[in-house]
Amino acid sequence: MKIHEYQGKDLLAAHGVPTPRGRVATDADGAARIAEELATWPVVVKAQVHVGGRGKAGGVKLAHSLQETREAAAKIIGLDIKGITVRQVLVEPGVDIKREIYLAIVMDRVSKRPLVMASAAGGMDIEEVAEKTPEKLLKFTLPPGYGMRPFHVQRLADFLEIPESAQKTFHAIVNGLAEMFYAKDCSLAEINPLVITGAGQAIACDAKVIFDENALYKHPELESLRDDGEEEPLEVEARRASVNYVKLDGKIGCIVNGAGLAMATMDIVKHFGGEPANFLDIGGGAKAQQVADALRIITSDKSVNTIFFNIFGGIVRCDRVAAGILQALESLPGFNTPIVIRLIGTNDKEAHEMLKGTSLIVARTMAEGAQKAVAISRGATA
Ligand code: GDP
Ligand code: MN
Repeated sequence: MKIHEYQGKDLLAAHGVPTPRGRVATDADGAARIAEELATWPVVVKAQVHVGGRGKAGGVKLAHSLQETREAAAKIIGLDIKGITVRQVLVEPGVDIKREIYLAIVMDRVSKRPLVMASAAGGMDIEEVAEKTPEKLLKFTLPPGYGMRPFHVQRLADFLEIPESAQKTFHAIVNGLAEMFYAKDCSLAEINPLVITGAGQAIACDAKVIFDENALYKHPELESLRDDGEEEPLEVEARRASVNYVKLDGKIGCIVNGAGLAMATMDIVKHFGGEPANFLDIGGGAKAQQVADALRIITSDKSVNTIFFNIFGGIVRCDRVAAGILQALESLPGFNTPIVIRLIGTNDKEAHEMLKGTSLIVARTMAEGAQKAVAISRGATA
């Protein structure tokens, strides 16, 4: 789960990280009111969207007066950054930037440990630094049960050539970042840029924080930070319906019980030359309500022209699933997207009997089902 920069900064500040303190506004007058309260110039007006590269996209502007603040906010609100419309801006005291540093902790799947990354070439695209000048990037992992230790912080400070005057604030940033990373089960906590100011202090000028969705149950307080407006609307609806859904770009909607089978289904659709429109796991139960929700979610994606049900009746009985699908279809009058279905496992004969005489196209194997779905999808496209 992603959050906004201002929310990330609030969290960092709560963990003792020095960061500019501002507030968010949704219109130009609101932005000017915040600047007036801050009573310090310049202020920086920053787009709050769940994507990076706001600076380059014109989403970060300095303002030296109330009038400039109003103008900057008016320009930024409504701006389209990588497909997301800016609805709010953060207004905070501007920082006198002498150096920009990159600092991040990311959960590394390969070492299965938090990976610390730092570079003196901050403010820029870190992927580019890693590719073109890997020697400018320091990377090390934190062992389990060990965390960020003073010698780690000193190693970072030495590599980044942090001046004496900024040691204290730099240590506060690194320790606070690590503390938050562990306390909130982050998958990413990034400060880019971490700034050394003209006055020789370290301060966190940006915050990108992503929480591990699978650990959110431990942190109910974080749920209020979720901004549905920034997410794929169909994925938001799927979460509400407890359906595991990820939108993709193809035309074949897949409805499957079990995550592994869902992956295999996407693979086999691709193998026969089709493109899956989604990953969708309705879980073990495959209840009528869930099937109906899944059908509704999938077909509100206008590029879907065929649906492929691939159900394995292990714990759940196939006849129950078939009844669920037929019941779901009854609750969706006017539903006319062709459906290919492969049901195998406990009571599959009964299930096939129930599907006779319906508009559903039954396949005996996964390969047959995928081939049929691809053929129908192609025919529907042509
Ligand atoms: P991003 O492009 O989405 O990562 O947004 P950032 O928050 O990193 O801002 C982009 C750039 O704007 C930074 O790298 C800085 O160069 C600049 N910037 C951000 N805040 C300030 C500020 O307070 N003062 C000045 N002078 N520049 C800033
Ligand atoms: Mn940044």
